[in-house]
Amino acid sequence: MSNSSKRSLDSSRIVLHEEALKQNIAFLKSHLRKGVSMSSVIKGNAYGHGISTFIPMAERAGINHFSVFSAREAEGVLKFRQNPDTGVMIMGMIRNEELEWAISEGVEIYIFETDRLEAACSAAQTIGRKARIHVQIETGMNRTGFEEQHWDEVFQYIKEQDSDLELMGVCTHFAGAESVANYFRIQNQNRQFEKALAAAEQRLGYRPMAHASSSAACLTYPEFQYDMVRIGIAQYGFWPSRETYMHLAKSSGFMRDNDPLKRVLTWKSEVMSTKWVEEGEFIGYGNVYLAGRKMRIATVPIGYTHGFARNLTNTGYVLINGERAGVVGLVNMNMITVDVTDISGAEKGSEVVLIGRQGDDEITVASFGEMTNNLNYEILVRLPASIPREKE
Ligand SMILES: *Cc1c(COP(=O)(O)O)cnc(C)c1O
Repeated sequence: MSNSSKRSLDSSRIVLHEEALKQNIAFLKSHLRKGVSMSSVIKGNAYGHGISTFIPMAERAGINHFSVFSAREAEGVLKFRQNPDTGVMIMGMIRNEELEWAISEGVEIYIFETDRLEAACSAAQTIGRKARIHVQIETGMNRTGFEEQHWDEVFQYIKEQDSDLELMGVCTHFAGAESVANYFRIQNQNRQFEKALAAAEQRLGYRPMAHASSSAACLTYPEFQYDMVRIGIAQYGFWPSRETYMHLAKSSGFMRDNDPLKRVLTWKSEVMSTKWVEEGEFIGYGNVYLAGRKMRIATVPIGYTHGFARNLTNTGYVLINGERAGVVGLVNMNMITVDVTDISGAEKGSEVVLIGRQGDDEITVASFGEMTNNLNYEILVRLPASIPREKE
């Protein structure tokens, strides 16, 4: 018998390891300069980890500020935070009509255009509470942010409207700090950011709080940490890229077998059924997999509907009884078939690990497909919110 979940009606579950998160945060904090604070980036349902479980866990690990993309995600923080003083910052989408709600809830908002700046000011006047704003500077990412010709008027406006606007920070975002190929572009961005901070100081009469770095920039360019870093991928135990890992491994002297970042997430299911298939038979749809010998296969009730990518057909694998079982045939909408011919203990109900560790072996997110820089992010966020999350 196995100890797989008998509690839920769901075909798989995601387990979050609190100890791993604590270790990651401790490791990241050990790389922060003195006085630098950390915001936990939890857009995309906490990179697929699930906000309802992740937010309280992160708070227990010492996090008191979260960054999200949208108003809807900010609402999630308000709902699941345990400490009412925990801050939340929207880095992207909110409509002008939603600003009154955000301001009344104390939600911090990025401001990257005059339209939103003026709307925030008048919303603050209407409800009689200051809008907490972060002014985003265009430094070369060319996505959102105030361009140089607007800096003076923006900071002048903020100075004049200081009964309605509370300037929490001035910020920017680097265009790919995880790759040394972008080194010069990022140096130029930082130079432009410094220039904006000087302009702000000139107008305001003080130097505002500043933040610019994501995981990769924080670890690779400590001189760009400013007052706060916005950490996403690394807190979940993933390196932004192989380059970032190599850079840190070299400068901090750790080795492959003592990776200081620990994966927080494990995705588990169980064997739904097993059966023998004769040599020469095709398995599943079409002629995608031909049994070259008499084989024992197990069906696992997860498929591309759950984020198990179709391109893992005949190439992905899962862990059962601490051993690797390869996917045979097409990944279906709701199930996969795996080869358990040589895994003697694989029975109906046996635990199946799709991502994470079982016994001495581990399925990494990267092994889900071709190793590309941003694969971690994409695979994680595609894990559906409907899979139950549990803590361990
Ligand atoms: C996603 C994001 C981050 C965090 O990036 P990671 O690489 O996951 O650390 C930081 N800042 C902004 C503006 C972001 O959109």
